[in-house]
Order: sequence, then C-alpha cells, then structure tokens
Amino acid sequence: MLPFKLVYSDDYYLPIGAHVFPAEKYRRIHDRLIETGVAEASDFLTPQPASDEDVLLVHTSTYVNKLKTGTLSPREELELEVPYSPELVRAFWLAAGGSTLAADYALQNRIAINIGGGFHHAFPDHGEGFCMIHDVAVAIRCMQRDKKIARAMTVDCDVHQGNGTAVIFGGARTPAGSLPSNSPSALRPLSSAQVRGTYAGDVFTISLHQENNYPMWKPPSSIDVDLPDDMGDDDYLAWLDNALSSGLRQFQPELICYVAGADPYREDQLGGLALTIEGLKRRDQLVFRVAHARDIPVMVTYAGGYARRLEDTVTIHCNTVIAAKEIFAT
Ligand SMILES: [Zn+2]
Repeated sequence: MLPFKLVYSDDYYLPIGAHVFPAEKYRRIHDRLIETGVAEASDFLTPQPASDEDVLLVHTSTYVNKLKTGTLSPREELELEVPYSPELVRAFWLAAGGSTLAADYALQNRIAINIGGGFHHAFPDHGEGFCMIHDVAVAIRCMQRDKKIARAMTVDCDVHQGNGTAVIFGGARTPAGSLPSNSPSALRPLSSAQVRGTYAGDVFTISLHQENNYPMWKPPSSIDVDLPDDMGDDDYLAWLDNALSSGLRQFQPELICYVAGADPYREDQLGGLALTIEGLKRRDQLVFRVAHARDIPVMVTYAGGYARRLEDTVTIHCNTVIAAKEIFAT
C-alpha cells in the first residue's frame, strides 16, 4: 500500500476523438500502476465533480454559463483546441473535483497525486490549449475559502508556460530585477535560460518552460524560467533547483501544487526540450525532496504529455508516483 493517496476516475477520459492529446493515458497510468504493483486498488480515491460554486471561485459566470449551455462562439471553441461537448464539460469538472480532493488529502497526509488535471492554460473567462477550466486554481481557491490554507505555490514543470495560472493569480507587479536569482552569483547553471520575476499575491507561481513554444504571450508568473530549445537533464534540474530555492526564500506556502507535465521529454511531439525519462524522474524527486525537507504538503497534477510512443508518456507519469513513494516512504 502507498503511504499516500492517488485520485483517479475512469471518467477522466476526455471525449475528444483522434487528437494529439492521448485521452486514454489516465486509464493506462492507473492500469500500469496496478499491474506493476506500484499501487493497489485501495490506494485510489474516486473524485466527485467540482460544484459550479467551486468553479466560480476562479472562472467568470459568463464563461461557466457558456460551457454549461453549449454556447461558446466558434472562435472560443477553436481556441480551446478540443471539440466542445457536454461530456467534455463533465470530464473537466471532474478533474477539478479530483485536484480539490487531492489538495485536501495532501494537507492531511503531506502528499496526494491526482492522476489527471494540470489544465494550466485555462483563463477565468476562456479556455485554451486543451484546457477548459483550471483545476489547480479551483483546488487552491477552495482550500483558501475553506480556511485550510492562506498561501499556496504552484510549481509548473510542463514544457508550456502556465499562462492561465499566471493570469489567475497575478497580482500587482514589480519590475523584474528584484529577484535574488537574477543576481549572477546566484545562478549556478551555465546555459542561457532567463529568469523573470514579479511580485506574488497569496499564490506564488513558478513556471519552467521552453521559451520558444506555445503560448506566444507569456503573462508574468512570480518566477518564469524561459528555457532554450533542447535543454537536457542536468541544466534543467539546476534551473529547477534554483527556481525552487529562490521562490521559497521569498514566499512560505502552506501547499505546493506541482504540475508534473510529461512534455519536457525529448521525444515529445509538442515540446522542444530534451529531458530523458530518467531526468524527468529526477525532476519529480527534486520537487518532492524539497517539499518533504521543508514539510510543505504537495498536491500533484499531470498536465501534458505527447510522446511519440504513448507508453513513454505513461512511464513518465507512473514514475512520478514511484518518485513520491521513494521520498515519502519515511
Ligand atoms: Zn504542455
């Protein structure tokens, strides 16, 4: 039995037809975890869909109403990049309920993993890039409303910048340059990535992503690390370590929401970084080790993964559970 809970439902499947997003990955991850003995049936919690009230903590009533009544404009549906259906709305509401359940369990038990979610391109008033509503933001706002936490940090390691996250939690801005990690002496990695920093409100947002990739417009996170194409494991891990240290010097979260995208993988069809499967596992271990050492609860969501071989995406996501098991076993 795992020392933490996994949140999963067969209904995480996104009914989007033939698509670069492998909607069946969630079930494949669940099945692989069971088959390989990493997890057993009792490790899984079944989520309920988020309530509309919860979703409205993040999204505008106009947008939620359009989703519920099927009245998105053609342009809005195009921007979403997945075909609208009422069933798809249900799947996204369920993912948001799953992340909320995982956040709640993480607060009780140091870590919990949602085998889904991570829809970080959803904005308050529209969806983009396969993301209809922002499950992570809904989870954070629910924990805050219920007085379970005041402050959270998002650590987004998907290859694409967390633009929705940045906008949802964006507060007043201060110019870049005030961040300790902008001082050359604090920068250990040798490669030419750039760090941009801004002030955070009650949620501190960190995004490590490929600069030369979607989204074109990258609204400022609290810390953005814009990585050059083809960055490999060691440089990536050094930048992640740097961003985590810098963020945690500035901000003391009561919950870390880790967006463990599988798409920084070198075989990814939508990504241009060059991490190996082993490097991605080391990335997970680094985030978990930092959270564990500082006794900060961590909630994990999965986000993107478009490897040429679906099996690789499944392996990367399963490794996140294995990494958590290694770190949180004690
Ligand atoms: Zn992505």
